[in-house]
Parts: sequence; structure tokens; C-alpha cells
Amino acid sequence: MEESYADSMDPEKLIPCPYDKNHQIRACRFPYHLIKCRKNHPEMERQLATCPFNARHQVPREEINIHISSCDDKRCIEEDIVNQANSYRREEAKILSAWQPPPCEEDWDKGEAARLLF
Ligand SMILES: [Zn+2]
Ligand SMILES: [Zn+2]
Repeated sequence: MEESYADSMDPEKLIPCPYDKNHQIRACRFPYHLIKCRKNHPEMERQLATCPFNARHQVPREEINIHISSCDDKRCIEEDIVNQANSYRREEAKILSAWQPPPCEEDWDKGEAARLLF
């Protein structure tokens, strides 16, 4: 059911309003509707917590921890971080293995590394 909140969804897809289950809002209008509907349901707003990973996720306060631990967007963010770290390490390995010491001229990179080490 988390998929229904995904950002990459069909803009015409209908999403149930967290404030009023009778509201079915098109995905493209969902953020606007939330702002509007929130004003009509101040008591609901107090009961709902906003997901830190996606402001469209309005979850009952008692469920926010469960939601955070299973939020699809968190998974995306974490995967992004992992991917970035991996690709960074790959880049580094590539540079290191491709790097050949220049035959005579001073390499400023080497000088920098030496300064950091000593
Ligand atoms: Zn609504
Ligand atoms: Zn979320």
C-alpha cells in the first residue's frame, strides 16, 4: 500500500486523503489537497505525523515509527547513499590503479598526500 504514495506514480492515480477517507485525490493534486484539507481537519492534523522522507506521507502519530522503518522513500534515499559510496570507492580504485607515477616531474597530488601523512 506504500506504493500508492510513491512519487514516481501516475499523476492521474487516485490517492485516498489521509484526513478524509472519502476523498480520492489525483496524485498531481495531492500536495495541494493536503494543504487545503488540513485546514478543514485540524483535529486530524494533530493526530497525523509527517514522514521525514516524504511530506506526502501523512501517518497517524502512533504509526510514524513503523512507517519510518518501512518507508519506501527511505529505502530510495538509503540506496542512493549506498550507491554513491560504492561508486565513489570504485572511482577511487580506478584512479589509484590507473595512476602511474610521472617519471621525473613533481606531482602535486603526491606532495599533498605526503603532507597529510607526515
Ligand atoms: Zn481531503
Ligand atoms: Zn514515508
